[in-house]
This record gives sequence, structure tokens and C-alpha cells, in this order.
Amino acid sequence: MDLNDTPEQAAFRTNVRSWLEDNKADAPAASGDSGDTAWIDSRRAWQDKLAEAGLAGLTWPKEFGGQGLGPIEQVIVNQEIASAHVPGILDVIGIGMLGPCIIAHGTDEQKSRYLGPMLHGDEVWCQLFSEPAAGSDLAAVQTRAIENEDGSYAITGQKVWTTNAQFSSYGLILARTSPDKHKHKGLTMFIVPMEGEGITIRGLRQISGEAEFNEVFFDDFVVPAENVVGGVDNGWGTALTVLMYERLTIGLGSEGFGYRSDRFAEAVGQDEAAKSDPEVRQRLGDLAAELLAVRFTSYRTLTALSKGQIPGPESGLAKVTTVNAAIAAGELIADVVGPEALDEDSEWAYMISFLPGLKSAGGTEAILRNTIGERVLGLPPEPRLDKGIPFSELRAKEKEAVSA
Ligand SMILES: Cc1cc2nc3c(=O)[nH]c(=O)nc-3n(C[C@H](O)[C@H](O)[C@H](O)COP(=O)(O)OP(=O)(O)OC[C@H]3O[C@@H](n4cnc5c(N)ncnc54)[C@H](O)[C@@H]3O)c2cc1C
Repeated sequence: MDLNDTPEQAAFRTNVRSWLEDNKADAPAASGDSGDTAWIDSRRAWQDKLAEAGLAGLTWPKEFGGQGLGPIEQVIVNQEIASAHVPGILDVIGIGMLGPCIIAHGTDEQKSRYLGPMLHGDEVWCQLFSEPAAGSDLAAVQTRAIENEDGSYAITGQKVWTTNAQFSSYGLILARTSPDKHKHKGLTMFIVPMEGEGITIRGLRQISGEAEFNEVFFDDFVVPAENVVGGVDNGWGTALTVLMYERLTIGLGSEGFGYRSDRFAEAVGQDEAAKSDPEVRQRLGDLAAELLAVRFTSYRTLTALSKGQIPGPESGLAKVTTVNAAIAAGELIADVVGPEALDEDSEWAYMISFLPGLKSAGGTEAILRNTIGERVLGLPPEPRLDKGIPFSELRAKEKEAVSA
């Protein structure tokens, strides 16, 4: 692949850069407390501004307010936002994963009702998939949705690790409608409002001090039949679309990660005492080499995307290596700065304490390594015990989505 921008991409990049230069004074702080309503509102307003400027929902079709552009343009925007040191959109889960699912499987009414407010940050969305006994083995979800006589559904169960639930207006929930069917076949996806009788949201406080995740309890929470997305008992196929976009969103976001990790390395490099320590220099060198490798590996994904292909199992490598490089960068800065790196007002505290959790998000490291071992390196398969989503299933779904 030619790693340079084409003339059109260069022109696009220039426009994005100059818009950011002109508008970055209005950008909110890049990090804050997700319980701080004023900060969340400022992030919503910034998302709206980005959407108005055509810098949100780039790959969404124009008819739904997007730009109808490709993933390369999305990466250019991610890179420029990262190097301008301003935050991106607030609702990465909605715009990156759930909106595309509604575009692919939703009814016309659902598309016209929900996509606009999602794009502009008026209504933030959350993903209600994981449960205490259903993470990697997602098809094991136990939350039940029982049909009432009037055709509505009563949802009962517990979800966990639900990012942004505390300020979301809506969520997409995966629930079991036919417990007698095979576990992949009796699931249904629903749109649920995040308030009302029968829903309780409890924050889960992390080591970073924040409560971004939540437990969400449903107790006979009633939703109308029109909230079904993709058909009753078709929830597994609908969920695979979300997971496909989740991997793509994490893959496309990895460049931004690279930039943030570079900042760690830069900061250590500016500390004269640390720089002259041979061990620190060694670790800094390892990190620089790793970050470079991560960046070039992500170009493989971009090559596939620019040729209209969906990246294969090797794309899991980008997530594993990027997250590990970022964690190593955090550990280095913690060793150099000392305990103050975790002070409340330290610019590093949040990243150092939050990053290790990313090993689990969007496919755990163990699952991704198994997939790479089996599918890329041709190693013998692990006995699966039906855990983890077989890659063949995701691939078949990806092919179906591309040809649609
Ligand atoms: C930052 C972050 C944000 C998240 N946001 C959301 C959200 O918004 N909505 C949502 O629904 N969920 C969310 N999650 C949850 C996430 O999807 C799960 O953490 C993930 O699916 C793994 O599930 P688990 O935590 O239950 O771990 P488990 O699946 O229980 O895994 C535990 C350990 O066992 C290993 N393991 C499991 N199965 C296998 C196997 N077959 N082979 C080898 N090893 C295996 C795993 O690798 C892991 O090390 C988020 C998680 C994080 C970290």
C-alpha cells in the first residue's frame, strides 16, 4: 500500500485540520468525570458541532445524516482529532456500533426516529449485551423477554459492564425470547429506553475512581413489539453485526491510541534524569519500536479496507499489540514519575488505571490470540467448549453485510 495520502485524501485532511484549528477553542476537556453532567453536556455539544461539520458518522449513508465516506476518511479524522488534542465524539458506541446495526436491520420507523438524535448527541446509546455469566460466551445470555398478550415484551434480567448507561437515553439489549430453542436461535434484539418502571442502573466504580460502567437490572420492564430490531429470535445475527462493527471501531481507533502512547514516550523523553537512565532508555527504545510496528500493522487493516475488503482475523493483532504497547507506556511513565502519576490531578492517572481493562473489551486477549493462532498461523484448535464466538460465524456475517 502507498502509505501517503492520495491528493483527495490530502485535501480532505487539510480541511479537517483547518476546521479543528478554527474550532478547537470550543472543545471541552478531553477527560473528565462521567458523573459530571456539565462535562457530559459539553461533550454532547462538541459531538453536535462535529456532526454539523460532517466530522461524525463519516461512513454512515448520507440519507441518515452521514457523509457516505470510507473508513480511510474516518481514520484521517481520528488522526487529526488525536493530534489536535481535542476529544472526539462522545457516543462512540452509538455511532460506531449500534447506529450501523439499526441501519442494517432496523425498520424505516426506527431509522427515522433514532439515527438523527444519535448522530448529534441529543440521545446517547449503550450496549446491553454482557451479563455476569455471558461475556466471551455471549450466546449464553439469560435475560428473558416474555411476550405479553398485547404483543409487547416484559424484560427481566441483569446486564453488566454497560458503558455510559448512566447518561444514555436508549440501549440495544440482547434477550432470550425462546428458551427452548438452541442457545444461538432463541435470542432477540430490542431497543430499550433507559428510564421507566422496572429498570435500575447502578454504577460500578473502577480503580480509576470513575464509574463509567454500570450494572443494569430489568424487572418486568415493558417494551412494545415495534422495538424489536431484526426480527424475533434473530438476535444472534443482529448481535454479530454489532460485534463486527465493534472490532472495526476498535481497529480504526487504534491509530489514536498510538498517538496517546507516543505522548507517554515523549513525556519520559523530556525528563533529563530519566532519559540518562540506561534501563529507561532501553524500555523507551522497545516502546518506540513496538509503537512503530503497531502503526505499520494497522496499515494492513487500512489496505484491506481501502480495497473494499473486510479485514480478516489478523486484525485482532492490532488490538492486542496496541493495548499492550499503551499499557507498557503507562507502566513506564508510572515508574518514572512515581506514585504522583496516580494523583487525582495527574494527566496520566486515568490512562494508567483504565488501560489494563481494555484487554477484555471487544474480545479478550486470550480469545483474540487463539483466533490468530488458529486462523492466521494454522495452529491446532483449542477445545472450545462452545466459548468465544467462532470466527467463521463472524466472517460469514461480514461477507453477508458487504454483499448486501
Ligand atoms: C472497557 C470495557 C468496556 C465494556 N463495555 C461494555 C458495554 O458497553 N456493553 C457490554 O455489553 N459489555 C461491555 N464490556 C464487557 C466486555 O464485552 C466483556 O468484558 C468481554 O466480553 C469479556 O467477558 P467477561 O468480562 O465476562 O470475561 P469472560 O468471558 O468470563 O473471560 C474471563 C477470562 O477467561 C478467558 N476466556 C473465556 N473464554 C475463553 C476461551 N474460549 N478460550 C480462552 N480463554 C477464554 C478470557 O480471555 C478472560 O481472560 C466492556 C468491557 C470493558 C473492559
